[in-house]
Amino acid sequence: MSLTRPDLDALPAYVPGRSVPGAIKLASNEVPYGPLPGVVEAVTEAVAGVHRYPDMGVTELRGRLAERLGVDTERIATGCGSVALFEHLFRVACLPGDEVVYPWRSFEAYPIIGATTAAKSVRVPNTADHGHDLDAMAEAITERTRIVIVCNPNNPTGTAVRKAELDAFIDRVPANVIVALDEAYREFVTDPSVPDGLVEYGDRPNVVVLRTLSKAWGLAGLRIGYLIGSPEVAAAVRKVVTPFSTSLAAQAAALAALNQEPEMRRRVELVVAERARVVEAVRKVHPDVPETQANFFWLPLGEQSAAFAAQCERAGVIVRAFQGDGVRVTIGTPEENDAFLGAL
Ligand code: PMP
Repeated sequence: MSLTRPDLDALPAYVPGRSVPGAIKLASNEVPYGPLPGVVEAVTEAVAGVHRYPDMGVTELRGRLAERLGVDTERIATGCGSVALFEHLFRVACLPGDEVVYPWRSFEAYPIIGATTAAKSVRVPNTADHGHDLDAMAEAITERTRIVIVCNPNNPTGTAVRKAELDAFIDRVPANVIVALDEAYREFVTDPSVPDGLVEYGDRPNVVVLRTLSKAWGLAGLRIGYLIGSPEVAAAVRKVVTPFSTSLAAQAAALAALNQEPEMRRRVELVVAERARVVEAVRKVHPDVPETQANFFWLPLGEQSAAFAAQCERAGVIVRAFQGDGVRVTIGTPEENDAFLGAL
């Protein structure tokens, strides 16, 4: 007898990048330079009030985000990481049997969320060069499809969709299907032909842009993400969000971090410069590393992936293996990256 759903046995668990004491962690796509200035002070001050619930409407932070992004506050919802917002989005859009189309391989949370909500996952294999197959994704849309996800840049392959192809794709998606643009790594994009989803498509009622403060903004440990959608979609998400899941500390930290945009940009530039250096060096050994617009890159090592990661770990560097497929390596500090190149 089981007290939980029998189909959970078949559900893959979310695998976090491993933290090994003393080892260099290049496994979770974090930025290595610590919290932005002022964040620790803001959180320290906020914790004096933790016997009270936080502002459930996340009013000040949503207002600040709205101002930065040039949209109405009512179009914004925040959540416990953008991963939670995906779950909420699936829940507000899908009835049993409805479909969510997404590329594969992509962010490993999509199938996990799909399996425990009403949505049925429809995975569309990536192209041979590890990018989205937007034509096949458009063809996979049926009358049951409620959401189609574009992960730009894609985790874990780092590849990015360009404006012309995304324009054509979005034009093909029926108006009653949500296009969820996962832009968790937007701040690391340097190619101007990779569109900013909000700027280019934000006026379309069926487009939802999901972003996070976990990566470039350095708040992974506090769990805060946001989405920008039409007022209706954003309100629906706020209705189902776990109450108070944007914590007091997260709200305070986010407000402090958003004051530090120049420093955030400076750190992103360091990561981007290292990305170019490291990928060039890695390609001398593995020429098939795809182009990356994110703060990580993909080594398509297939069946060698787990062994490669184990070898790196013996050299004191933790990377993320997707056995049978490839290895994702996060860009760290220059010293950390040198340690990886040494291991390689
Ligand atoms: N989308 C993508 C593509 C990601 O890689 C991640 C983090 N791994 C997220 C969303 C969610 O990030 P968070 O929940 O920390 O905001």
